[in-house]
Amino acid sequence: SKKVNLRVRVGRVAGEIYAILIQDTSEQRSFERMRRDFVTNVSHELKTPAGAIALLAETVSDASDDPDAVRYFSGRISKESERLTGLVSRLIELQKAEETLDVSENKQTNVLETVADAIRENLVQAESKHIEIMLSMNGQRIAFDGEKPTNDNPNPLLIVNNTDALKTAVKNLVENAVRYSPVKTHVAVGIVADDQNIRIKVVDQGIGIPERSLSRVFERFYRVDPARSRETGGTGLGLSITKHCVQECGGTIAVWSREGEGSTFTITLPRHSKVNDVHETDGGAA
Ligand code: ADP
Repeated sequence: SKKVNLRVRVGRVAGEIYAILIQDTSEQRSFERMRRDFVTNVSHELKTPAGAIALLAETVSDASDDPDAVRYFSGRISKESERLTGLVSRLIELQKAEETLDVSENKQTNVLETVADAIRENLVQAESKHIEIMLSMNGQRIAFDGEKPTNDNPNPLLIVNNTDALKTAVKNLVENAVRYSPVKTHVAVGIVADDQNIRIKVVDQGIGIPERSLSRVFERFYRVDPARSRETGGTGLGLSITKHCVQECGGTIAVWSREGEGSTFTITLPRHSKVNDVHETDGGAA
């Protein structure tokens, strides 16, 4: 196991709230490297779809009297521009996830609302594949179409120093669940909160991940099937950004999957530290 630096700060913010901040400088360094690598690769990565769009647009105008050809080339143009948009969003995510705000900026994050926001960002994509996304908290189904999701229990709160990080993490998991699932399937997002942990599960009925790849999917630029992933707009960065974001919130992420059955990603966020305890530790494992 590798040596990491941990700093844990805990404090009361309001009533029952527990706060935790973990700063892992070795992770931070490898993340900076990830961003540098990505920026190095990105000019090439951006050039490919941009060039393809220019070429396809030319072809489509030449074929303007053939409706089938127009439909075919237009479809390819929108695929390529989706890819461009995907790359640019990854750049923004990398930039944002790296911003570690001041401890005094620690914010109360309403986990249910954050998860609902993350789901909403994937609704267009899901609807285009007739995939239904369901949300539940402690086993209770929750509607998220409205402005703010509500349920009978108090929504679990978490203190993090980068509120966007949690949203990005969940957004990426739901995005993958939709991307790697066939049409007319379900994606279930479940929040389970107890005194110790808040657990967020994203379950799909998709293509699954081969066993030999399971331990590698969180690596940067790793893709199980690069050709397929490219076609669906993948960059191989989503899960490495997700893992970083989860760690930024003091949590861990795990994956279960079986090919042809589906995948389950589980984020576990600890709430175990008692209010008003303030301690700092060095060393230990994340
Ligand atoms: P990408 O941008 O290619 O999706 P990610 O880092 O998000 O990159 O994921 C890495 C790889 O893990 C993907 O290329 C894909 O092969 C696999 N993967 C991720 N999520 C899922 C999922 N829910 N179902 C099946 N395969 C997945």
